[in-house]
Amino acid sequence: MIIQAFPSGPFATNAYVIACPQTKKAALIDPAPECSYAVERFLQKNQLTLDKILLTHSHWDHIAETALFKEKYAIPIYIHPLDQSNLEQPGSDGLPCWISIQGVKPDILFKEGDLIPLGNLQLEVIHTPGHTPGGVCFYCPKENVLLSGDTLFQGTIGNISFPTARPELMWPSLAKLAKLPPATRVFPGHGPATTIGAESWLANARSIFGNY
Ligand SMILES: [Zn+2]
Ligand SMILES: [Zn+2]
Repeated sequence: MIIQAFPSGPFATNAYVIACPQTKKAALIDPAPECSYAVERFLQKNQLTLDKILLTHSHWDHIAETALFKEKYAIPIYIHPLDQSNLEQPGSDGLPCWISIQGVKPDILFKEGDLIPLGNLQLEVIHTPGHTPGGVCFYCPKENVLLSGDTLFQGTIGNISFPTARPELMWPSLAKLAKLPPATRVFPGHGPATTIGAESWLANARSIFGNY
């Protein structure tokens, strides 16, 4: 499995290209602000075909260039229905937005347990509300890979004080991730990659982060 991060925009949000090495089909995860130049160069250099856009959640720093890619490549956009409205009307989630973001309609709404094909790979949707209502992680069991969005970072969790955040939903979401195999490689929405095993605090997240 090909995985490349493109930290982009004011919060160094990680856009990711993930791809099936046999079929060369690629998915773009979270088109962050100003990621398009580096992403397109990578696609061309590796002769990858962009097949779909997958969104871990609808915060503006994760959806900023979704409309641009949709227009250029005419590929489907996937998101959880509970984060759909802020994708269509960026800013409607009440989060202060620093740049102008073009809204876009998604093509496919996924839910917990759905399997998304990518060439010979499959990504499983794990619904992880808390940071946002429709926040998800994408899990590839065959490759031991998790794209964790803003739910889990190296050493910490996503912000649960935002207007649409729900701390009480975050703890069960993190508990789900704690059950994944320790060798699972984790690629978060910000910062460096880690593994489930390295984040051994995960099962006790509530007692550590519950007051914040
Ligand atoms: Zn976020
Ligand atoms: Zn973020």
